[in-house]
Amino acid sequence: MKPKVAIFSLTSCEGCSLAILELEDRLLDILGAVEIVNFREGMTPRSWDIDLGFVDGAVSTPEDEKELLTIREHCKVLVAIGACACLGGINTLKNPQGKDSYAPYVYGDQAKWFPTTDAKPISAVVDVDYQLPGCPMVKEEFLRFVQCILAGRTFRLPETAVCVECKKNGNLCLYEKGVVCLGPITRAGCEAICPTYGSKCEACRGIVSEDALKAANINLQEQYDVSLEDVLADLRLFGAHQDTTLP
Ligand code: SF4
Ligand code: SF4
Ligand code: SF4
Repeated sequence: MKPKVAIFSLTSCEGCSLAILELEDRLLDILGAVEIVNFREGMTPRSWDIDLGFVDGAVSTPEDEKELLTIREHCKVLVAIGACACLGGINTLKNPQGKDSYAPYVYGDQAKWFPTTDAKPISAVVDVDYQLPGCPMVKEEFLRFVQCILAGRTFRLPETAVCVECKKNGNLCLYEKGVVCLGPITRAGCEAICPTYGSKCEACRGIVSEDALKAANINLQEQYDVSLEDVLADLRLFGAHQDTTLP
């Protein structure tokens, strides 16, 4: 029997679900090994008996929360895909404004018809078995994850910071140009795509480890006279719900 797979979307742009479709011919290899039973972007639901469930999107409405509880109930293994599901993502930008402010700002005098809450990652509501971070998630990482699960192998995310990949790419560090980049504290796995194309890392893959925070705390001060507080102050775009306290 092929494992039954489902892909769900909560509040998001659904870019991570779309990334699965973008695998094109490589998706065909996966489709031969699994049975897709639920995929909002691709088909009419067939079954709620699910071995492996993927969720993109944050919990940002009472409806999201209800749907997520139902999803968790029906999935043996649940995987958060993308920054929205793993961290709350860009949806959390509204949180500091306060509900009394963002609801009428977006919906005007119709706000009462559109229940909305502070955005949070799905792990704030249900147990999550795996996380595939990034905005969008890295397609190759998704493929590697599915291959590991199907083969019964252990899957692990990279435990190094984006700086490692950035240096491998031969980039001049943006700190040399006076730009505060979140690469030193962010989980690698994206091939440092943003700094490689001249933009600072915004930490869409989340904080990699306490050790990275400690190292950044020392190194950035020594090399560039930048404090970790300055760096963490920039952790806004994907930053909510991450523990940034140094032990
Ligand atoms: S993580 Fe990014 S690409 Fe994925 S659903 Fe959220 S906003 Fe879209
Ligand atoms: S701080 Fe940013 S630009 Fe500098 S090496 Fe790290 S990822 Fe690259
Ligand atoms: S460089 Fe940073 S912001 Fe860009 S994709 Fe990688 S983790 Fe995300």
